[in-house]
Amino acid sequence: MSEQIEGFVLSIIEYREHDAFIRFLSKEHGLINLVLPGYYKANSKQSRLGLEFSKVSYNLKYRENSLNRIRGGQLIEGFFHQREDFDWLLDASLLSELIIKLYIDEYKDDLYESYSYILSSEDRAKNISLFLFNLSKYHGIQAMLDSCVICGSTKINSFSIKDAGFLCNVHSVKKDRVDLLELLVYLNRGIELDFEDSSYLSFIDLYIKYLSFYADVNIHSWKLKTRV
Ligand SMILES: [Zn+2]
Repeated sequence: MSEQIEGFVLSIIEYREHDAFIRFLSKEHGLINLVLPGYYKANSKQSRLGLEFSKVSYNLKYRENSLNRIRGGQLIEGFFHQREDFDWLLDASLLSELIIKLYIDEYKDDLYESYSYILSSEDRAKNISLFLFNLSKYHGIQAMLDSCVICGSTKINSFSIKDAGFLCNVHSVKKDRVDLLELLVYLNRGIELDFEDSSYLSFIDLYIKYLSFYADVNIHSWKLKTRV
């Protein structure tokens, strides 16, 4: 029995002669690998089914733990308007890479909802920050953000990746931006956020390093963004 599955094309690469290999974030089955036959043939009619970061519906006979082949489908949302914005492309690429590398099946619904929501959102820096903070929880590597990790003092001076949390004025070797420290406190307490984009960007930079360190991954899309 053929079924329809809905989701997002996180990445697409060439596979065998003319086929494409797709990392797909599906609503039903979470992160799965699919083959789109004939995608790279010159006269392919499938061009709208392999657009990176788009939302599509595929027809296939789904079998668990197999490399399933796409038999057809349709584009639901191509984000053609957003695609003209280079920042959107970089954010979509970052989110896709984060999900591919830090996917946890238990949180597949949250990951799906976040991806879907952030791609259409206007305050992406804020929402990507929340997403990264949640990822640290999903992976059980939440930082200690109430007081100094070493002595418990609340005179916070910096965030230390190595110590997984705040350090006070005595134990810090550097001083971090106050807005960054405030943002961390707000995230930790689950308080509604309203910061400048520059604060969110320094948080994203910090937390990608933090997650990379503890989850042992290398996130390439962010390096691309920081170079632009
Ligand atoms: Zn201390």
